[in-house]
Amino acid sequence: MHDAIPTVTLPGGAEVPSLGFGTWMMGEDRPSEKMEIDAIRLALDLGMTVIDTAEMYGDGGAERIVAEALKDRREDAFLVSKVLPWNASYDGTIKACHASLDRLGTDHLDLYLLHWRGEHPLDDTVAAMEELQTAGRIRAWGVSNFDVEDMEELFSVADGKNCAVNQVLYNLSRRGIEFDLLPWCQEHQIPVMAYSPIEQGRILHHPELVHVAKAYQATPAQVALAFLLEREGVIPIPKTSNLRRLQENRDAVDLDISDEDWSRLDAAFPPPARKMPLEML
Ligand code: NDP
Repeated sequence: MHDAIPTVTLPGGAEVPSLGFGTWMMGEDRPSEKMEIDAIRLALDLGMTVIDTAEMYGDGGAERIVAEALKDRREDAFLVSKVLPWNASYDGTIKACHASLDRLGTDHLDLYLLHWRGEHPLDDTVAAMEELQTAGRIRAWGVSNFDVEDMEELFSVADGKNCAVNQVLYNLSRRGIEFDLLPWCQEHQIPVMAYSPIEQGRILHHPELVHVAKAYQATPAQVALAFLLEREGVIPIPKTSNLRRLQENRDAVDLDISDEDWSRLDAAFPPPARKMPLEML
């Protein structure tokens, strides 16, 4: 018997599972497509229904794969895509959103994010997001790779406070946001989507992580995900095209790590003692 995936409530009231699914690197290689589609469908079956994609991934290829996977079950997913910063003018955002909708084979996104900050004024991007929402093309909008200063600036523009999430790099080896950005988002009730939650695999051989995982007959990836699942308002979105690893990631929800073992991991992956600039991948 597995524990249910806990949920996180977005500012607009939508309740989403706190463990999602990433699609970066999908749709880039034809022979892998079937496996990728199967993985997205299994993610939905397992309740990891927040499906994160972007116009950037595979140059639209990832959105096409997601479309295939959701063909007969769009409503099972909480679908997230992103506009590239150089497309994020008022008109450009609206055009990019429609192009994503076409590739995704749907008439709406559940969440649309500005992928990272660029040269276009935030007012213009936010105005386009609001327009898309009014027109029913998106249910909510948010940002990605925004540090505290960016969030404060966002909150100073008209309708900027309607931001629903901030998606940032966050994992055991990248804890900088715990100093200020995570508390800021928690205080403003803006969930944080944690991207690269297992550091694209690079932390999985860390001896302390391996040691703690063994003590729970778990894998290092599961402990790395459990670390994020413990935190209020945090939604890790691991990517895998491997069905066994996907089930493994889902089962991270069942882990119950002791305070003593969290302390061991704190010693191995220290939390920040001062402000760190937000890192990006
Ligand atoms: P992840 O930390 O999710 O790692 C993905 C890698 O780890 C893949 O190579 C995958 O390989 C492997 N993997 C997954 N699960 C396991 C497991 N249980 N054991 C061992 N290896 C595993 O990195 P991502 O960078 O992909 O981040 C996740 C998602 O976040 C992205 O896919 C994307 O949707 C989003 N993202 C957003 C960014 C932004 O700027 N907003 C930037 C980066 C990512 P395999 O598929 O072979 O299993």
